[in-house]
Amino acid sequence: MLLSLTTVFTFRLPEPNLCLVSLNQMGARMLAAVLRNTGDQDLDVTDTIEVNDPGPDDVVVKITHTGVCHSDVSAMNGTIPTECPAVLGHEGAGIIDAVGDNVTEVAVGDHVIVVWSPPCGGCRFCIDHKSPNLCVTVQFGSMMLPHFTEANVPVHAMAGAGTFAEKTLLPKQAVVKIDPDIPLDIASLIGCGVMTGAGAALNTAKITPGSSVIVYGAGGVGVAAIQGARIAGAAEIVAVDLNDAKLDDARRFGATHAVKPEDVDGAKLEITGGDGFDYALECIGNPLTMRASFDAVRRGGTACIVGVGRMEEMVQFSAFELFFSEKILVGSYYGGTDVRSDFHKLLRLYKQGKLDLEGMITRRITIDEINPALEAVRNGEVIRQVIEF
Ligand code: NAD
Ligand code: ZN
Repeated sequence: MLLSLTTVFTFRLPEPNLCLVSLNQMGARMLAAVLRNTGDQDLDVTDTIEVNDPGPDDVVVKITHTGVCHSDVSAMNGTIPTECPAVLGHEGAGIIDAVGDNVTEVAVGDHVIVVWSPPCGGCRFCIDHKSPNLCVTVQFGSMMLPHFTEANVPVHAMAGAGTFAEKTLLPKQAVVKIDPDIPLDIASLIGCGVMTGAGAALNTAKITPGSSVIVYGAGGVGVAAIQGARIAGAAEIVAVDLNDAKLDDARRFGATHAVKPEDVDGAKLEITGGDGFDYALECIGNPLTMRASFDAVRRGGTACIVGVGRMEEMVQFSAFELFFSEKILVGSYYGGTDVRSDFHKLLRLYKQGKLDLEGMITRRITIDEINPALEAVRNGEVIRQVIEF
């Protein structure tokens, strides 16, 4: 998502495959929330956008639910470079509405979660490096082609997903089929925030039983990281947030301590005797809290950076401390996931009552309420808001 997005636009558009397009999909008007220009404060909720016809390896998904993530705000303010105009949204779930000729993996009517960084399944990242979340073949290939059209002008999709629309076009790798008994509002959260946060705790940081953990930021991603740490068996989980209400929320999801930033040193002394935590997870995207999370861990501990800051923002380290502290500093992209298995694992944890997804939905809203919803994210007021179409 952070590489140059412009290079991918030289790819040829896939040939449209009209024969399998359902009648209600062809040329149908629908509601969508569009970012017209980077820097705009509001999205344009419009019915002037049409979803493109699927190529042979594509599917059209009728989005039933989509969560609002801080990365949507970051696409608006330019932190995450996004070609405009673009339908935002990347945390979605819905029902397959049409499939291309070559698609056998899913069929019309299947329930799916949208994947914003899908593995192609055949490249070195997917196979040799065992890091399918880092595969860019699909994400910077067909995902970056315009998914929509407005008066003959191509319209892009944020992170190749574009879930703030009643329908979106995706390559077949960008959907994971789920059981129809899973509520689709719950499923949508897995598509970004929950996979990212829980995956950072379980897959990237690899938190161990009995360890001490500090999580910076208790939004959707941070709360999922807290739950991941709880599932991993951490003994102490300290949540840090500016917002008092978030500290109460964090305790609800498994934080054993919840503090304002100015109280971190006290918690560190009380819990670790001053050595520092075994793990820190930064779930905000601020260079200061990235540095603070590195400082919060003990010698040899792991600081895992989940939040996304601007490309030009820097985090400084002394050339001495890196050697001396032997800390592990690791980024986490989409929770280090293999979506093909991890989405199902998280849903099984949900079904067994071990992962609280229902409690993460602060508000259910309509697409018309997207702009106040984005403002609530900017103000750190919510865990997750889910748009219902
Ligand atoms: P959010 O806005 O819902 O939550 C952020 C929380 O941090 C809020 O509760 C806010 O009150 C708190 N906060 C803000 N500044 C703070 C500070 N200085 N000190 C303490 N608390 C502070 O955001 P989210 O949707 O949970 O996303 C969190 C971050 O994760 C964002 O940067 C987002 O872009 C990023 N993200 C990363 C990936 C990935 O693959 N690594 C995927 C999705 C989202
Ligand atoms: Zn997201």
